[in-house]
Amino acid sequence: MSDETSQQCGKPRILVVEDEESIRGGLCDVLAYHGWAPAAVGSGEEGLDRGLREKFDLVILDLMLPGLSGLDVCRRLRHQIPSLPILMLTAKGSEDDIVHGLRCGADDYVTKPFSVRELVARVEALLRRSREAAPETFDFGPWEIDAAGLRATAAERTIHLSGREVELLRIFGQQADRVVSRRTLLQEVWGLINVDEIETRTVDVHIAKLRKKIDTGETSMIETVRGVGYRATV
Ligand code: CA
Repeated sequence: MSDETSQQCGKPRILVVEDEESIRGGLCDVLAYHGWAPAAVGSGEEGLDRGLREKFDLVILDLMLPGLSGLDVCRRLRHQIPSLPILMLTAKGSEDDIVHGLRCGADDYVTKPFSVRELVARVEALLRRSREAAPETFDFGPWEIDAAGLRATAAERTIHLSGREVELLRIFGQQADRVVSRRTLLQEVWGLINVDEIETRTVDVHIAKLRKKIDTGETSMIETVRGVGYRATV
C-alpha cells in the first residue's frame, strides 16, 4: 500500500526511526498489525528528512543512532512541527537519556527491551492525546467536517476528503477572512520547510480539487490572492 493510499484510508501514519534492522522490522509488524500505517527509516538524517517532508501522526524515535543523533532529530522535529507526537526509545536504565529526550521535546518514552503491549499502549495514548488536542469535528461554511472519518456533510450530502484536505479546511477555518500564504500551507499541511516553485504548485492543485468538492455556489469559498496564497470566506 502506498503512503498516499494509506493516508486516504485514514490510518494513523507512524514514522519509525531505528538503525537496528530487526527492531525496525519488528516495530513495523506490530504497528501494522494494530491497524496503523508504519514507514521506517534507518538513520537520523532520513528520519528528519521524512519527518519534515511528510505528514505523520506520530514518530517513534530511537535515541541511539549513528550520525545525526536521536536527540538532534527530536529537537529539530519538535521545533519545526510542535504538534507532532514523539515517542522515544531509550536504553534501559539510562535516566540521563530520558531526561535529555524529554527536554528535547519528546512526549513519552519506552525503554529497551520493551514489551509490545507497553509500546502499543504508549502509542495509543499519544495518538489519543493529539486527537483530543485537534477537534474531531468543525464547521466550514455549510459543511460539518468529520476530521477522523475524513468526510464532510451538508444538507444531507456527504463527501469524502483526504487527510490533507481536512487540514487545509481546518487552517482556512481558523484563519477565516485572512490571507494564508502557500508557504504557510506547505509548512502546516505538508510539513515542508524549504519550499520551491514546484511545491507551491502542488498547493494550487490540491486547492483546485478541494474547491470542486466543497463549493456549492458560483463563487468559491476559497479565493485566490494573487502572488500570495488564499483567503477563505465562510
Ligand atoms: Ca539504535
